[in-house]
This record gives sequence, structure tokens and C-alpha cells, in this order.
Amino acid sequence: LNLFIVMSYFKSLNIRNEKILEAKTRELEELDKFKSQFFTNISHEIRTPLTLINGHISDLDAHTFENRSLPTIQSGIKKQINIITNMVDNVLDLAKMRSSNFSLELKPINISELIQKHYLNFEPLFKQKNIAFHIFKNSKDCMVNIDVVFFEKAINNILTNALKYTDEGEVKITISKKNQHVHIAISDTGIGISKNDLKHVFDRFYQVNNDTNKSGGSGIGLAFSKEIIKLHNAQILLASELNVGSTFTIVLPLEKSIAATLVTPVDTT
Ligand code: ADP
Repeated sequence: LNLFIVMSYFKSLNIRNEKILEAKTRELEELDKFKSQFFTNISHEIRTPLTLINGHISDLDAHTFENRSLPTIQSGIKKQINIITNMVDNVLDLAKMRSSNFSLELKPINISELIQKHYLNFEPLFKQKNIAFHIFKNSKDCMVNIDVVFFEKAINNILTNALKYTDEGEVKITISKKNQHVHIAISDTGIGISKNDLKHVFDRFYQVNNDTNKSGGSGIGLAFSKEIIKLHNAQILLASELNVGSTFTIVLPLEKSIAATLVTPVDTT
């Protein structure tokens, strides 16, 4: 009987190991698929701005820029270089975040002040497009624990999208406190997102395929932002309607509420 018990124990151990191996193989296959999809997409996305840069430079070579001023050509080149730089930065950061020794450097910060800084950076860009840009601070003392470098990148992506996908109207940021959380809502009156696309826009490489989406990009901006926001124990919500606009809301725990959850409860029994 003992021998039988030992044998069935080893058999169950074997089955368990086989299952673990199967899961690991599946995981590696997924990763492999992701990597080849990633390289195909990124090569394709980098090719588009490079082709455009090439076109601008050919215009300069051929001195065929009589119809376009030199500054227009220069700013065209700069724009495409920025697109490539952002794409490469996002990719490198995503890889960094996935490495095993990565951790956020959390520091207490007043989120209203950080958002104000972003407002100042983006204001001239919205002005250029004739879009009104406002910030509403509904609550004071919004202290949160964040990694400033990464959190800024997440907000930048959302604001850059608001700028890209809005042609007229208004973009606004509203900061308010609710139930131990800070809500940062970034709303635009842009092209909006259809119900069907709403569930996918945070997926890596997903880009809405419509006539109005001629803005380049890589489709990793929102995936990257969502990953950063999740690492902060926060949430990102999206409400949108086609041809009306979109609101991305980041819900971040207040610094005090984090401290409260970290306190070890005293055993009174
Ligand atoms: P991309 O580099 O294409 O902008 P993102 O991951 O940042 O990639 O966004 C994914 C897709 O979601 C975009 O291609 C766009 O179709 C859609 N999208 C993102 N933000 C907005 C917005 N504010 N308004 C309308 N569509 C948006």
C-alpha cells in the first residue's frame, strides 16, 4: 500500500510538472509572437516618418521648395523626428518596466502642481491649433505618491493624443478629490472613439483605423500609460463618443490613504 501511495504521489508530481511546463511553453510562445509582431509594427511605424523626412530633404536638394518656406520644411522634419523619438522612448521605457529589477521611485507630490507644469508645456501647442486649453483645480492639497518621471510620461501621452485627435473646441484638465482619491480628468472635443474601439485602445499597437487617423504614432502610447498608471495602484477610465470627444480619467489614491493601508492593524484580542 505504501509503495502504491509513493507511486501515485510521484505520478501526480509528474502531471503537475508537465502542466507547469506546458504553461511555461505557452507563455514563451506568446512572448515570441509578441516580439515578432512588435518588430514588424515598429519597423513599419518608423518607416513612415523616415519616408516623410526623406521627402522633405529631397525637396531641399532639388530646390523645389518655392511653394513652401524653409521654416515649414524644417518644422515638418522636426515633427517627424519627434514622432520617432517618442516612439523609441516609449518602447525603451516599456522594456525597462518589464525587467525584473524595475521599481518605481515613489515620492509624495502635490499633483496639482505637476499638472500645472504640463499645462504650461502644452498651452502653446494648443494655441497653435486654435484649441482652447483650460485647467480646473477643484480641490487643494492633492498629495499623492508617484514616480514623477514615469507619471509625467503617462500624462504626456494622453495630452498629446488630445492634441492630435482634436481639431476644434476645447481640451481641459479637471483635478478633484473624491473618496480618498484624486481624479484627473483630461477631456477633449475631438474625433472621439467608437464603442467597438473603446475596449481596444489600451492594447499594445492598437490604432483606430479611420479616415481621420492620419497622425502617425505607434499605438503603444496608451498601453504604456495604462501600465504606468497600474504600477501606481491607480486606474484609468475612458468615456468617449464618436464626433463628440473623449475623457480619460486617472484615479489615483491620495497619499494619506496609502499610508493608512500600510499601517499594520493592532491586535486587540
Ligand atoms: P497612437 O500612437 O496611435 O496615438 P495610442 O496608444 O496613444 O497610439 O492610442 C491608440 C489609439 O487610440 C489611437 O491610434 C487613436 O485612434 C485612439 N485615441 C487615443 N486617444 C484619443 C483621443 N483623445 N481621441 C480620439 N482617439 C484617440
